Amino acid sequence: MSNPYPMPRAFHIMTKPRGPICNLNCDYCYYIPKVQMYPGSDFRMTDEVLESFTRQYMAAQQVPEITFGWQGGEPLLMGIPFFERALEFQEKYHHPGMHIINTLQTNGTLIDDAWTEFFHRHNFLIGLSMDGPQAMHDAFRVDKGGHPSWERVMRGLHLLQSHQVEYNILCTVHQANALHPVEVYRFFRDEVKTKFIQFIPIVRRNNETGHQEGLELTHHSVTAKQYGDFLIGVFDEWLQHDVGQIFVQIFDVALAAWFGQQPGLCVFEPTCGLGLAMEHNGDLYACDHYVEPHYKLGNIMGTPLIEMVASKEQFKFGRAKFDTLPQQCLDCEVRFICNGGCPKNRVLTIEGEETRLNYLCAGYKAFFNHIDRPMRMMVEELHQHRAPANVMYRLAQERAAQEQRFVKIGRNDPCPCGSGKKFKHCHGKK
Ligand code: SF4
Ligand code: SF4
Repeated sequence: MSNPYPMPRAFHIMTKPRGPICNLNCDYCYYIPKVQMYPGSDFRMTDEVLESFTRQYMAAQQVPEITFGWQGGEPLLMGIPFFERALEFQEKYHHPGMHIINTLQTNGTLIDDAWTEFFHRHNFLIGLSMDGPQAMHDAFRVDKGGHPSWERVMRGLHLLQSHQVEYNILCTVHQANALHPVEVYRFFRDEVKTKFIQFIPIVRRNNETGHQEGLELTHHSVTAKQYGDFLIGVFDEWLQHDVGQIFVQIFDVALAAWFGQQPGLCVFEPTCGLGLAMEHNGDLYACDHYVEPHYKLGNIMGTPLIEMVASKEQFKFGRAKFDTLPQQCLDCEVRFICNGGCPKNRVLTIEGEETRLNYLCAGYKAFFNHIDRPMRMMVEELHQHRAPANVMYRLAQERAAQEQRFVKIGRNDPCPCGSGKKFKHCHGKK
């Protein structure tokens, strides 16, 4: 009987050749505890698993561009020869017309000349994990001895820059940096000199397994309000200076949604299921955030990859995101972009409902409402075949016109902002 669950045209697998093994021990990391799932393992992907994965992954994609995403733990702990073999296998199973991209997420501390030469030669796109200026980064990103890592990451960054390796920044937002959005953003823009930034909220369950179990969160976790305010702070700075120059993932995703397209980031898609994760031994899981026994689909050495990706279990996992939306989300004015957020963060109980609301809801709502007008203006620009960056000039003109109106106003006149109050009691207040 044919599989009733259709094979997606494209999907992504986050690949963990060294499993959860890492040279750092970041306080908030949810992945290090996964070591307990593989007692006695050496946590090293063998050439057999690597070759089988490469062959099956490339054969299953029905699009011309394929992205290999290397992650961990710390993938650099595999050493350069492992990645040379990965490239050999990619070459071996490459079809004509296929374009291959290799992305690698690293904590940056092990980068040296040899790595940067390798990355440069093979066009690797490097995601560097950094949480901002030194004190904010070092608050939680420490090594096994509890020593800070910022200086080592900056050394790695400078090597990437000097070898012209393409890199972007993945910054987690947590209790140590959430109150400083502009400082964090300017640091990445002006000192790290990146053009692409992702801000990922830390919402970590307080347990020993790293699984999505229990409803209590750790003390590192950002609150919904802090996360919303953080995004708003960064957005306002970006909107004044950097549209079209600096690309912040959640702003790009939002613009796509306002423009009527799919958000393109799993967290804000209506359903899940297209971003899987594979452990060092070939075990395949529904998602990087659900590497736990209940969400294991099988092992690529025993079950064809394609069958697991198009399985009933994975389909149900993906649909559950939509099927378990609480009424609040179904009625929400920003659902077209939020879609209830990542199910792993749905921990808030609501009276009278069986399903849970996203812990970050209040922050998402505040942020998405805050950006509504500028997003609409950018969409207008796109419809006119002009650059969204024009929004900066339009808003600057509006501000200048408003300032002019304020200059001419008498203290007892109605405030030009339309509040109905006298100017002296509103924007003219000393
Ligand atoms: S569970 Fe969360 S991280 Fe995983 S695919 Fe769904 S939205 Fe993405
Ligand atoms: S903002 Fe809140 S209510 Fe609205 S879709 Fe997102 S999580 Fe649901």
